[in-house]
Amino acid sequence: MRRRSFLAGNWKMFKELDEAKEFVLEFLPLVSQVRERQMALAVPFTSLSLVAELAKDSQLIVGAQNCHWDNEGAFTGEISCSMIKTCGASMVLIGHSERRQYFGDTDQIVSRKLAIALYYGLLPIVCLGENLAERESGLAFEVLSRQIKTSLEGLTAADAPKIVLAYEPVWAIGTGRTATDQQAQEAHSYLRARLTDMVGSEAAVQVRILYGGSVKPDNVASLMSQPDIDGVLVGGASLSPQSFAKIVNYLPI
Ligand code: PEP
Repeated sequence: MRRRSFLAGNWKMFKELDEAKEFVLEFLPLVSQVRERQMALAVPFTSLSLVAELAKDSQLIVGAQNCHWDNEGAFTGEISCSMIKTCGASMVLIGHSERRQYFGDTDQIVSRKLAIALYYGLLPIVCLGENLAERESGLAFEVLSRQIKTSLEGLTAADAPKIVLAYEPVWAIGTGRTATDQQAQEAHSYLRARLTDMVGSEAAVQVRILYGGSVKPDNVASLMSQPDIDGVLVGGASLSPQSFAKIVNYLPI
């Protein structure tokens, strides 16, 4: 099955308003020819409205980097999916490894956030991946199995195609150490098999699985040549309009 390529950036806690505006104004003309592929940017909450407004007549999907699991309430400092939506955004990252590592996002929390993102019609990108110790001790697949099972708990076959998964081995994020094409493909194909167990093959083949971890303009094409790699989630290299545009415009090999 042919899945539509999805190339997403994650600005993390970078870019003030002026910088966000400058980026979008430079970036959009560089990707104006893109038709088949989907491209997206997860930006800080403070830039959501501005970037969504600037991108509204373009192909760029704009999203947040996190959300709360409830719609409203006494949760000081938190942002809900309905708030994200009213900013004009349509996507949200859930369970990024930095959220898991520094802010206590567990697989159970991820599953609650996923449910509310789907309820509000946001496109959720659910991130998972093993850390270095887990990979080196041969536990990578066990960890992935546990993460996918709990993070996607309750996901129906009807909703599965409405989500995107991102395999991001923690040891490859921001380290310059990319997983090899084979390591990434192996993990993606494993995740698709687990998805098949959970929602059936008809739904599982429609789910896009992105690879994230030190993706750059010069390694995107070979990663994208793998059968189960449907896109990429890019941190550092999405901060420059030129390098992110090169990633979006990669030439297939
Ligand atoms: C990320 O933030 O999801 C990521 C993969 O970062 P980087 O591309 O910088 O490794």
